[in-house]
Formats: sequence, structure tokens, C-alpha cells
Amino acid sequence: MEEKDRSSQSRPPHVLIFPLPLQGHINSMIKLAELLAIAGFKLTFHNSHHNHERLVKFNNIAAHFERYPGFEFKTITDGLPLDHPRSGSWFLDMFEETMEPKMKQSLREVLVNSSPPVDCVIADGVSYSIPDIIQAGELPINGSEDMDRLITTVPGMETYLRCRDLPTFCRKLDIEDSIMKLVVKQTRKSLQADALILNTTEELDGPILSQIRTKCPRVYAVGPLHTQLNTRLNVKHGESYDHISNTLWEVDKSCIFWLNKQPNRSVIYVSFGSITSMSREQLVELWYGLLNSTTKFLLVVRPNSVIGKDGEGEDVVMELMEKSKDRGYIVNWAPQEAVLNHPAIGGFFTHNGWNSTLESVVAGVPMICWPQFADQHVNSRVVSVVWKIGLDMKDVCDRKIVEKMVNDVMVDRKEEFAKSASEMAKVTNQSVNVGGSSYSNLDCLVEDIRIMSL
Ligand code: UDP
Repeated sequence: MEEKDRSSQSRPPHVLIFPLPLQGHINSMIKLAELLAIAGFKLTFHNSHHNHERLVKFNNIAAHFERYPGFEFKTITDGLPLDHPRSGSWFLDMFEETMEPKMKQSLREVLVNSSPPVDCVIADGVSYSIPDIIQAGELPINGSEDMDRLITTVPGMETYLRCRDLPTFCRKLDIEDSIMKLVVKQTRKSLQADALILNTTEELDGPILSQIRTKCPRVYAVGPLHTQLNTRLNVKHGESYDHISNTLWEVDKSCIFWLNKQPNRSVIYVSFGSITSMSREQLVELWYGLLNSTTKFLLVVRPNSVIGKDGEGEDVVMELMEKSKDRGYIVNWAPQEAVLNHPAIGGFFTHNGWNSTLESVVAGVPMICWPQFADQHVNSRVVSVVWKIGLDMKDVCDRKIVEKMVNDVMVDRKEEFAKSASEMAKVTNQSVNVGGSSYSNLDCLVEDIRIMSL
């Protein structure tokens, strides 16, 4: 923390927020920034040039944030040329060598030159448990052992966390693996934080939060941030108010018109977030599974997300679009929150990125989980065996299994899943109502930042 300007202690706290340059991270961080701006703080939101340009292009963010006089967007380079496609594994490939040093340097400059000085920096962190699992010798030694073996070193998860529920880079012990090294290093750094702000609720993640508190006592569970923001905007403006979108792709709203024509809870929404890609073969399996089920589908295929030989990925999408006209609708990028809250949606086929998982929980939509990497494998396990609001397809992509899971969630076990998802939505939404756990935790966070800034 920089030396404080002690002469101006009556000024509002100045918070600098710096998300990783990825859609899911920007989504939650910009909502947290707005929540702190509503509390009267001065906010500096740091984004990469590339992402800021897209936020401005596809959302009305500049005009939206003008209502908060202390809110400022600043941009820094992520180390890549603006026209770099940033697809596939670009982030992991570039992070340590290219992005981190450049971003560090430019952040340092901002911190030194900032006036008023920055009182609090909020940045992304990573999971605390991986170094413990490595130390306990619980990672699979090679890829061929029993992946259903339970991991016992993460308190609160001993009864259900299996080897196959760990992030993919943990499925084979290789401490020289670059992602493994990066995560261990970043975990060490995360442990130096004064506090953790988590986009979850005490009700959803109680046992895990207790465990995290043994490592970092100051934990603020203030999520789901998107509904917390809606509540706070309603409290402030006294009207029904939806937060602004902050998408990095152009949203295709035509799918809402298509959904308007479908019966209630009859469509499965299929989308795998902003980073995952799939092979041409996987897309074809998925598509046949959907087509062979009895359900209509809304499928998102992000540009450049299908890996095939030159142009093949795009070709297969065009072919599928042609063939599925009466059974489904395909878009490049959907208004996801609006889709999940649409009455025609009865299920979500998801990769279980954390934002998507929470958005589904809040909307009371049961899930079929097809996790790919990072925390997604843990999330899908929790969705299926702890919260019991979906099925986990983990590690396979076969048309017969897709068909069976879609029929289970949308037809055969529809009422069972709808009931548990709607109960979970109720509890989660209560946590952001005035007096709920997340609402009160945000009040504590605001107060503690004020005290920190004195
Ligand atoms: N999203 C969207 N439209 C889409 C697909 C995704 O608006 O067609 C949003 C979604 O609502 C979520 C975010 O992109 O907030 C993806 O974040 P998540 O943590 O689920 O996954 P990630 O992209 O980080 O893997």
C-alpha cells in the first residue's frame, strides 16, 4: 500500500479494481466495482485496452458509470497486439512471460502516480487447496490410476471430491507443469491478501467458507454479485432496475424472440462460456445428442471456439445450423442472464464456469454439466452431488449420453430437478435481500474498507 495522504482523511476510500483480462473475471469485478461506487467510494477500474474497447463497443458502459462521479476507467496493455485473436489457450500461454510483467509495471506506475492515493487494491486470486493436496501426496501419480479415488485433504469435501473432480492440470502429478507452477505461485501470493471477497453465499458454500477462514480469517461472501447489484440498485432508486451488461462479444438478441415462441420450460440452453473450445467431433456428438433427445435447444457457438483444420470448425457450425432449423436455434453469443431467466428455458447445458453456475442457480434452472478445466470440475461435482440440481457428464462427450442426460433433466426427472433448483434459487436470492447474509457481508466489507482507509 502506498504512503497515505493523511491530510485528506475525510475523502471517500479510493479502491482500485483489477480483473484478469477474461470475460468471467470482468463480469464479477465490474459488478463489485459498481457496488462499492454505490457505497460512495472512489473507484478506479483497470482493464486491458483490448477488453475496455470491447466493453465500450458492445455495452453502454461509459454513459452508465457517469452517474458515479468518482468512477474512472483506466486501461493498460495486456502485452498483446490489439488485433491478436485471444482464442484457444492464449491466456495461459501468454500470462507469465508476456502479460504479467507488463501489467505489473503499468499497475505500479498507476499506484505511484494515483491521486488521491489508492487505499485498497482488489485483484483476482486462486484456490488455496492445491498446494495442500500436492503436499499430502494425493494427486494422481499418472493418468492411468483410479480417478474415482476420494481426495481427503480438503476439509468439507472429503466425502465427494474425487481425483476426476480436480482441475485437469492436477490429474497427473507433474510439479514442472507450467500451469501447476503458476497456480502454486499465485496461491502463495493470494495467501498474502488482507481479506478475501468471494462471489458466493454462506448458504451455498458454508463448509468451504469455514475451511477458507482457517487460512484467511477475513472472508466476505457477498454473492451472487449480479443479484446483489440488482437489490442495491433497487434500494437506491426505489424501482425495478437491472444492472448493465458487460459483455465482450456482440449479443444476438434474436434468440429471445425465438424463445418467446416456445412453451414454458421446453428449451435447453447450451453454452460453454467465454474461453472453452471444443473439437469438431465433440460439437458433432453434442449436436446429435441434442437432436436425438426430445427437447428443443438454444446453442451458443462462440466465434473461433470450434477447433478443426482450416475453416472446418466454422463449416461444421454452418452445416448444423442448416440441419437444426426446426429443432434448435444457434447464436454466436447470447444475452445469458436474460436467457436463463426466460420462462421457456428448462435446463442449462453448461461448462460450469462459476458465473454461469451462479446465474443458473439464481434463475432456478437445473444443469447438465460438461466441465472442461480450472474450477469447473469441482463446480460440476457440487452441482450434481451436493446441491443435487443437475447431472455431471464429466470426461465424456458421446451422443447417447448427451441424449439420455437431456431427456432426464428435461423430461423423465424434470419435476425432481425443477423442485430442487427452485428451492436452491429461493435460498440464494434471499441472501442478497436486505438483511440476508450476503447483503450484510457487503455492508461489513464497505465498513472495513472505510476503516482501513483512515
Ligand atoms: N456469457 C454470455 N453469453 C454467452 C455465453 C456466456 O453473456 O453466450 C456470459 C455468462 O453470462 C457469464 C460469462 O459470460 O457471466 C462466462 O463466465 P463463466 O465464469 O461462466 O465462464 P468462463 O467464460 O470464465 O469460462
